[in-house]
Amino acid sequence: MRRLVIIGAALAGQRAAQAARRAGFDGELVVVGEERRHPYTRPPLSKQLLAGEHTVERCDLPWAKLEVAWRLGVPAARLDRDSKRVVLADGDEVPYDRLIVATGSRARQWPGGGGELDGVHTLRTLDDSLALRTALERGGHLVVLGAGFIGCEVAATARGLGLEVTVVEIAEHPLLPLGAEVGTHLAKIHRERGVDLRLQTGVASVIGNERVEAVELTDGTVVQTDVLLAALGATPNTEWLADSGLSLDPGVVCDVTLTAADDPDVLVAGDVASHPHPLAGGRHVRIEHWTSASEHGQLAGANALLEPDERSPYTTAPYFWSDQYEVKVQSIGFTSDAEQLEVLEASTGRERFIAAGARDGRLVAAVAVNAPRRLGWYRSQVADGQSIESVRELIRADESALGVADGMVGA
Ligand SMILES: Cc1cc2nc3c(=O)[nH]c(=O)nc-3n(C[C@H](O)[C@H](O)[C@H](O)COP(=O)(O)OP(=O)(O)OC[C@H]3O[C@@H](n4cnc5c(N)ncnc54)[C@H](O)[C@@H]3O)c2cc1C
Repeated sequence: MRRLVIIGAALAGQRAAQAARRAGFDGELVVVGEERRHPYTRPPLSKQLLAGEHTVERCDLPWAKLEVAWRLGVPAARLDRDSKRVVLADGDEVPYDRLIVATGSRARQWPGGGGELDGVHTLRTLDDSLALRTALERGGHLVVLGAGFIGCEVAATARGLGLEVTVVEIAEHPLLPLGAEVGTHLAKIHRERGVDLRLQTGVASVIGNERVEAVELTDGTVVQTDVLLAALGATPNTEWLADSGLSLDPGVVCDVTLTAADDPDVLVAGDVASHPHPLAGGRHVRIEHWTSASEHGQLAGANALLEPDERSPYTTAPYFWSDQYEVKVQSIGFTSDAEQLEVLEASTGRERFIAAGARDGRLVAAVAVNAPRRLGWYRSQVADGQSIESVRELIRADESALGVADGMVGA
């Protein structure tokens, strides 16, 4: 294999390039990226960069020492697997022996009218973050649509910058996949910090004339605003693969080694990869977390140098973190697979706690709120598929546990 091409110049793509070089690949390595920027990391975009605490340079991923031919500022437009070429939007063709697809995902836009008004933002790229920061620096009122991770983080950052913040969420609590205990706790914290959190409420319309002026909610109230952030989740970037013959679901379907289901010379990494996971009972999952994108990239970069039957599988439990105010939320495993997430241990006053969940009696996920040291223990229990009953027993006997949650453990 002489020519490895990576499409997507962000976290998964950078990690794949790094891993291929570390594994001794000395052939030609081309990385194509739609953004003009070299690879950077996204988590600060809703936190430290948005708050003005980090510089743009501090978001850089290590790319400068990588021996890579960068093709930045031009997206891949088409994949021709018969001739093993990627056609770029400027008409250039990039031949490959092996290809890694790492095109990630993009922010979902507000689907109704008004999305084009000035003052309406989404947040995915560094430039999105800088534009939102400029808007927030003017002060005033921010309305956030969606109380997922990005919506909640931006709400927290904007409160720190002194803005009035309203968050509108259709669900019963923020951070829906993390269960009611964690979501309700976070709702309380946001409200204590002055966020006007409107739950079980949707947006009927976005009002404005050139600039956004207000949003009308489904309960009939109208909230005046200067800035609107649509934080409505993400969509995988696969349009360029539409006629490639690769299976899309909507991520790129691959096997457990991140090899595309339809082509052993194509590997997939990061948010765009749809792969079976043993901890999800072999179901195909698409994980949109920083750590998984990094691990995927490393694995795909190494696996791309090997023949299909020599490639290693991706079996690590997904890990995610979110920082809001002084609260650190971390999760391990597949929270949405849990039949129920319940608090297994908590500090007095519940400032710190762990909620965990099982399926068919086996631990599948744990969420830590301000309890990073405890999460490591749960990570190994999830990886081992420990029974929830043994977990309860072990916690009871464990002096480093936060304390047994009333009426929960052994109930
Ligand atoms: C604001 C924000 C905050 C986050 N905070 C956290 C956090 O605290 N914790 C956490 O675990 N995760 C967090 N995440 C998620 C994490 O950043 C993503 O999971 C990770 O960025 C995925 O990396 P990726 O390389 O797969 O995809 P992406 O980061 O989406 O990168 C894909 C790249 O491919 C490019 N591309 C797309 N289409 C093409 C094409 N056709 N041709 C060429 N290039 C293309 C894109 O422009 C992009 O640069 C956050 C994400 C955002 C947006």
